[in-house]
Amino acid sequence: MLINLCHRNFTQKNIMTFNPADKIQDLQYFGEFGGVNPSISDSSTYTFLAAKSMTDTFEGNLEGCYLYSRHSSPSNLYLGEALAAMEGSESANVCASGMGAITPTLMQLCQQGDHIISSRTIYGGTYAFLKNFAPKFGIQTTFVDITKVDQVMDAITDKTKVLYIESVSNPLLEVADIVALSKVAKAHQLQLVVDNTFSPLTISPIQLGADIVIHSLTKFINGSSDTVGGVICGKDAFISSLRDVNDGASMLLGPVMDSLRAASVLKNLRTLHIRIKKHSENALYLAEKFEQDGLKIIYPGLPSHPQHQLFKSMYNKEYGFGGMLAFDAGSLEKADALMELMQERNLGYLAVSLGFYKTLFNAPGTATSSEIPPEEQKEMGLTDGLIRFSIGLDNDIERTYKAMKQCMQELNIL
Ligand SMILES: *Cc1c(COP(=O)(O)O)cnc(C)c1O
Repeated sequence: MLINLCHRNFTQKNIMTFNPADKIQDLQYFGEFGGVNPSISDSSTYTFLAAKSMTDTFEGNLEGCYLYSRHSSPSNLYLGEALAAMEGSESANVCASGMGAITPTLMQLCQQGDHIISSRTIYGGTYAFLKNFAPKFGIQTTFVDITKVDQVMDAITDKTKVLYIESVSNPLLEVADIVALSKVAKAHQLQLVVDNTFSPLTISPIQLGADIVIHSLTKFINGSSDTVGGVICGKDAFISSLRDVNDGASMLLGPVMDSLRAASVLKNLRTLHIRIKKHSENALYLAEKFEQDGLKIIYPGLPSHPQHQLFKSMYNKEYGFGGMLAFDAGSLEKADALMELMQERNLGYLAVSLGFYKTLFNAPGTATSSEIPPEEQKEMGLTDGLIRFSIGLDNDIERTYKAMKQCMQELNIL
């Protein structure tokens, strides 16, 4: 029997008292034999005691029965419930990857002829989907500078259904004014969809007015770079619609997470608050030091960041400003040389992705954002020499700082 953990208190809307890690802590799970971890449901299909229950479950008229694991499974529901608690949403659906969360959400919300407004500084895969793939189904997207709310307003048409943003954007770390954008969305009956992958725990978009929150679990939430995964958090009705056997995008497109993996992601989720605090502490330390040294650092925790105050108006303070920072090494050659040297000295890995215990870095212009054409990269301020860092959990960050600085000095970057 799955314990129903859906009883949540939705009157709690005050961001000052909403603590996402406490919400996870407050959940209680028992395994089938009293284990401290929930039992893993190692089954693709489920038996029914009565034939009628099967029919009712198919028709969506019976709750509490499992049918088939592409639809739902106990392990996936447990993870979904923990993530819904974390975001303060009514419900959540876990998916095989972040893209497996993003694309069904947009396909569920939009039909042929509909229009999406999206931030132009978004994950490369999302950008490619909106730009190249969605138009094949008659869904058009206008890309805007999300820091300019008037650009969003100007782009709204009577066909617009979705406003799509990242709370902290990839890779330029622009911060979206979720409160202001949610007001615009409400006034025009748009669904505000927020990809919160860069800022789990630090920003709680649903508490700020977002309708749907998406994460790539691949990154900070799982944190061990051993799997891809995703989640969609939203209202019960929307999450159920995604799983509908007749027209649910998650059910029909099929990006389902495996139960074994859902169980392992849930176990990692329990240390997320400790990890995020350390990622943030280390990133802030490096950002401040390197800025003092004269580098042009992009980090929301620095007063020099254009949306520093905005971030402070939205964040759950104890988790800090997050683990992502970026800076321009001057040219692609310098960026490449620095990344190779830092890897050689074991200060991190030259790899895409983020949220690992080890620092990860890449030059997004030629890697994670290479789906975005060069002219558009230039327009959005994405320079060739930009390096994106996901700062790791280094125990002695001062030691790391000194070693990184040494690399930069050897390459005449500092
Ligand atoms: C990685 C990432 C995604 C895609 O997630 P996958 O798990 O790789 O499919 C989406 N959005 C952001 C911001 C990401 O960093």
